[in-house]
Amino acid sequence: MNTDEFTQQIKKVYNRAGTLYQRAGESHVIAYPELLGDSLEELRTSLEELRVAEEELRQQNEELASTREIVEAERQRYQELFEFAPDGYLVTDADGTIREANRAAADLLGIAHNYLIGKPLIIFISQEERRAFRTKLLRLREVGSEREWEVIVKPRHDKCFHAALTVASVRDRQDKVVSLRWIMRDITARKEAEEKIRTYHLQNLQLQEASRLKSQFLALMSHELRTPMNAIIGFSQLLLRQRNHQLPPSQANMVERIFNSGKHLLKMIEEILDFSKLEAGRLDLDLAEFNVAALVRETVEELRCLAEQKQLEVNIQCCLDNPCVVNDKARLRQVLVNLISNAIKFTDSGSISLEAQELSDNRVAIAVRDTGIGIDPSDLQQIFQEFRQVNQSLTRDKGGTGLGLAISDRLVRMMQGKIKVESQLGEGSTFQVELPRQIPVELEVLS
Ligand code: ADP
Repeated sequence: MNTDEFTQQIKKVYNRAGTLYQRAGESHVIAYPELLGDSLEELRTSLEELRVAEEELRQQNEELASTREIVEAERQRYQELFEFAPDGYLVTDADGTIREANRAAADLLGIAHNYLIGKPLIIFISQEERRAFRTKLLRLREVGSEREWEVIVKPRHDKCFHAALTVASVRDRQDKVVSLRWIMRDITARKEAEEKIRTYHLQNLQLQEASRLKSQFLALMSHELRTPMNAIIGFSQLLLRQRNHQLPPSQANMVERIFNSGKHLLKMIEEILDFSKLEAGRLDLDLAEFNVAALVRETVEELRCLAEQKQLEVNIQCCLDNPCVVNDKARLRQVLVNLISNAIKFTDSGSISLEAQELSDNRVAIAVRDTGIGIDPSDLQQIFQEFRQVNQSLTRDKGGTGLGLAISDRLVRMMQGKIKVESQLGEGSTFQVELPRQIPVELEVLS
């Protein structure tokens, strides 16, 4: 029941009471006691209605009071949120004159809160950006809001900083902008991070380009060197094999050195070429079924003479129920040659052992074990990086490019396998290649 209804109700009761008085004033009422009874009854009903109306009004008043309390609590809450928000909150009129501001806004603008009120917001925008700011402020009347508007803020007594403004307009019933609500956020840290990312990205692009040029140069150079090197090896071999015009021993010795050095150089050139192909993703696997135990034996036989030159014992142990594997035979041979040559190169006495075994139905492993100089645990991860050698001084007595293990590691990963190494300084090393029995064709294509 609203106030009007209540007034109406009182009026009704008043009228009824008036009628009763009027009747009571008439002399014949006493003569009609039943009329008096009716009138009193009427009065009682009216009073009852009045009481109900009063009750309803009281209830409404209580509800109103509690609603007012809730509204007040909400207002208080929003005031606190406004006041203690970490971002700067401002309310300006449509022209941008500050009407309200929270503490964060006062801090950001470097001015006491009470001096902030009444100031145009534009005076806190850097000189160079004021014209653009003014234009955008005018446009806000049409567009209504703006998000993440980046400006350079100039606080009263401090240096400029990057800020992001988010602004929304408040309109009256005639759709006229009456005020603007602003959120101001200091984005200096974000800007610096973005700048760093941009710099890193640029550096990364430059590095990628440098790396591409390096790979291109390596590929070109090794390709160009291969042809004359093959000629040197071929002709020196011819000179050594002559039956009719045998070279005197001193010359034969020199030609043999030319031949061996040529072979050594050719191996290095081929490693560089392989590596540049791997880097450029231009190396494909040639999959076929082969006998892995036979491959291990053949490879060891090829290199046995090198081990014998150093009086190293060579052992082979193949415990494979099923030696058939589907993979790239030539590339696996290349990996084994690298591991066995290293084992011989870095072992001065003792033995080299090869062991092939089944790890599970679909995985096989080949281990190359030596009793050589071993590798310090801190160097174990680095030896698989390209051009990494444990002793990188120019005076190191062992030759090599430092590419063998990097190439082997990449090749084995292309074959869906992995290389593990265990080693102790002075006690020898074990390199183990694990491979799937059958490389899944679709995975090979993806790699
Ligand atoms: P390279 O043999 O041409 O130097 P690799 O990539 O094959 O290059 O090997 C990298 C380095 O790892 C070697 O220079 C050597 O220091 C270390 N290394 C590899 N195999 C062995 C091994 N069996 N014993 C000791 N050190 C080894």
